[in-house]
Amino acid sequence: TPALAPQLPAIPSTLLVGGRWRPAVGGATFPVDNPATGETLIEVADADAQDALDAIRAACDAQPALAVLSPARRASLLRRVEAALREREDELALLITLEMGKPIIESRGEVAYAADFFGWFADEALRIGGDYRLSPSGLTRILVQHRSVGPCLLVTPWNFPLAMGARKIAPALAAGCPSVLKPAEQTPLTSLLLARIIEEAGAPAGAVNVVTTSRPAAAVGAVIRSGLARKLSFTGSTEVGKLLLAQCSAHVMRTSMELGGNAPFIVCEDADLDAAVEGALLAKMRNGGQACTAANRFIVAERLAREFTSRLAGRMGEMTVAAGWQDGAEVGPLIDDAAVAKFERLMADALDRGAVIEAGGGPANGRFVEPTVLSNVVPGTALLEEEIFGPLAPITTFREEAEAVSAANGTPYGLVSYVYTRDLQRALHMVDNLASGMVGVNVGVVSNAAAPFGGIKQSGLGREGGLEGIAEYLDTTYAALPA
Ligand code: ADP
Repeated sequence: TPALAPQLPAIPSTLLVGGRWRPAVGGATFPVDNPATGETLIEVADADAQDALDAIRAACDAQPALAVLSPARRASLLRRVEAALREREDELALLITLEMGKPIIESRGEVAYAADFFGWFADEALRIGGDYRLSPSGLTRILVQHRSVGPCLLVTPWNFPLAMGARKIAPALAAGCPSVLKPAEQTPLTSLLLARIIEEAGAPAGAVNVVTTSRPAAAVGAVIRSGLARKLSFTGSTEVGKLLLAQCSAHVMRTSMELGGNAPFIVCEDADLDAAVEGALLAKMRNGGQACTAANRFIVAERLAREFTSRLAGRMGEMTVAAGWQDGAEVGPLIDDAAVAKFERLMADALDRGAVIEAGGGPANGRFVEPTVLSNVVPGTALLEEEIFGPLAPITTFREEAEAVSAANGTPYGLVSYVYTRDLQRALHMVDNLASGMVGVNVGVVSNAAAPFGGIKQSGLGREGGLEGIAEYLDTTYAALPA
């Protein structure tokens, strides 16, 4: 049983609308629980459609105040947020662990990663450029500009409560876009503290609004239908993403969609086995497997499969499963009971089809599940097709490289793939042939503020971070003039 949870840091628990912290119009609240204990941490305001509309109107009202901020002022605002996040790492990390469950050490990593985005986009705010061209006839001058798309709706998931908001708010502010952030109902607390930090850093009132709600469809739907938001940036499931894309079509809104994945992790027969096992642990076990970038399927050269499996099983089998704030915790609880039920369903299906347990496999204890490795996993098994989102590692094997690539690509998703090989030509061939927006070559983590994070196929549209990230929040316009 998890030790007594540390005290919740002081945080706002109401909505932030137009620079005012206030309860939901109807006074409703909903509980946020600690996934390690199932206990309620706090009650927060439960916004309805009216509150969400107030928030998007407040964002619209803030547009002029943001528009007059010079690039240098926007950059320094973002730098102050970056500094505050780094200074307040202890408090933020504890909050992330309490509401989401991950081990404190990973929460600290998330704070640093989130801060990186404010630093990165502080610089990008200074580099929003345009260009000048001549028409082919030489008779027309073309002046190309990039300007803020306008008010944005930002919808985030629960697995990285700080980083997902940071990845959207930082480029939005850099581009001069006011926003409404709608965090996941499981983890709204970190977003509230982030908004307070941005407010304290001197953002204009209404530049960032936060709407916490247990009724996401009503709140998000109202904002989209209002036509007041010009853009939606969403991170979450492919299923909800499709629904929102359809809704956004009514007003032809700009959209960025970071959706589900089904990442293959390929270990070629020439791989450095030590490095592959370390990379596999990172790719599988970061956030307890609850990441869209998590390795979902291991595809291992037959010659290495036994050795790789037993080493990975050894490492996963000895991981410390504990509440995130406990010393030595390496794997926290799953986010909620539905996640536990899914984990159990996927495991039962695999065992029914003859999979063999190499590590773990025991029953869940509350929301804690054992890191589990399965071998002898046959095609058609549900966990090869669905996003597992838990510490469950199925291992399959291949003989020819082409077989590995075709298995890797054989899903509707295309977020990230991992490849371990010591052969440069093979690595480049894989990079060119894997159908995913990102490929990790001999690395188990691809996320980085400097990189254009995102997927192809049903994993999404648009990119977060890198030189591409800011473009998601800018419209391109041009003026034609006589030469
Ligand atoms: P997950 O499976 O990771 O919880 P979801 O796609 O369900 O992913 O949730 C991601 C975000 O989308 C959360 O902020 C959630 O509140 C929101 N959301 C869920 N369902 C809807 C919906 N029908 N309309 C709008 N937003 C939704």
